[in-house]
Amino acid sequence: GVPPELAADVAKRHGIELEVPDNFYELIAARHEAPEVKPPELPKYVEEVEALPKTELLYYEDPYALRFEARVVGILGGEAVVLDRTAFYPEGGGQPSDVGLLRLEDGGALEVVRAEKVKDRVVHYVKGDLSKVAAGLRVEGEIDWPRRLSLMRHHTGTHVLLESAKRVLGDHVWQWGAQKGEKESRLDITHYKSVSDEELRKIEFLANQIVMENRPVRTKWMPRQEAERIYGFEIYQGGVVPDLTLRIVEIEDFNVQACAGTHVRRTGEIGPIKVWRARRIQDGVVRLEFSSGMAAVERLLEAYDRVKRISAVVGSPLEKVESAVESLVSENRELSKRLTAALERLLEVSIRESPPRKVNGLELRVVPVDLTDRKALTDAADSFARSNPRAVLCLLGGSGQRQVVLAVGEEAAKRGLHAGKLLSGVLKRVGGRGGGQERMAWGSVPAEVTPERLAEEIAGELRSL
Ligand SMILES: [Zn+2]
Repeated sequence: GVPPELAADVAKRHGIELEVPDNFYELIAARHEAPEVKPPELPKYVEEVEALPKTELLYYEDPYALRFEARVVGILGGEAVVLDRTAFYPEGGGQPSDVGLLRLEDGGALEVVRAEKVKDRVVHYVKGDLSKVAAGLRVEGEIDWPRRLSLMRHHTGTHVLLESAKRVLGDHVWQWGAQKGEKESRLDITHYKSVSDEELRKIEFLANQIVMENRPVRTKWMPRQEAERIYGFEIYQGGVVPDLTLRIVEIEDFNVQACAGTHVRRTGEIGPIKVWRARRIQDGVVRLEFSSGMAAVERLLEAYDRVKRISAVVGSPLEKVESAVESLVSENRELSKRLTAALERLLEVSIRESPPRKVNGLELRVVPVDLTDRKALTDAADSFARSNPRAVLCLLGGSGQRQVVLAVGEEAAKRGLHAGKLLSGVLKRVGGRGGGQERMAWGSVPAEVTPERLAEEIAGELRSL
């Protein structure tokens, strides 16, 4: 379950050259489900930013800074702004970019729709009038705080969930991928089989216990070598970081990872962690879809309300609602079986009791019935025609656009009657369509064609035999 880059990296330090194909993940993915990864968008302005000073990243010093003062240092392509410092977290490490506002001194504002890190500069893509914005201008940034807080809760929640999964399932569990969202996030882990409900319950239980222990979450910068020596290679859950200095995120006495994302100060701030779904997305990879914080609270309450409404509908107390629903379902299955049996008997009776019209030595019956089940109609028509050699039986099933089943007895067939040809010709004249074999044919007719009209048409054909 070790990521291939890490395997190669460790092997290299032991003097072993390990070659990882450039398209390793494509090769894996091609053998399994199509990957849900977007092709990485190539950053724009790679050359342009080099003339600008590097951006001071305020979100590292204080991930709770939601307002900040800054100065514009560059404008790119009439759509993006670079500042000397910023609290806007740029997309990265599976954490989406912040959004928010850049307030101008004249009272106007630019809307930040996305921030992207390009060579140590944060490029803010904005909507709004950039005509009065120039280098040197002071701005006040304000990030969309509810969104960022939710993303921080989900991000720290991802670390807690990963470690919980590792402790419940075993040391082979690594992070394969992760995408944080405001309402829901996903964590893909390496695991060789499906996660059972019982295991999942244990993982969720441990994760929420860590939350409630309200452990401190500390971040610090460390030289790469030192971090590896102290914490081991397990810090590379999001893949190998090429930098010489690593940002280490530590949940006290629980989990340590190299991670560039923004995190809450203590695990208690994450709020509930609830996994909605655990499914294998490819050989050896299980995807956990989960929510943290208010998003988890909202959905848990919704789910509870839904169960409460079900309990009201089935008229059973909440704690017995499952068995009440189960018995309703099995009762329903039994009833529909009995209803079908009753309708089939009724069908037999309707056929037998309908008076035949004698035409050219044959006995014609056109019988309207409620049943629409094609197999039941076919079986009934077939069995009647087998025991009545002179029978020409036409069943009209359902209402509205009606099903037609035509069966002819042996004697009728000997006289040259072909069910398929007869039905096809007749139905064509009345605006329907159909066809079939010598003894049995199927089709449909529009609602306005009455049984009498159909009987008249078929009788005409029989007369000309
Ligand atoms: Zn992280």
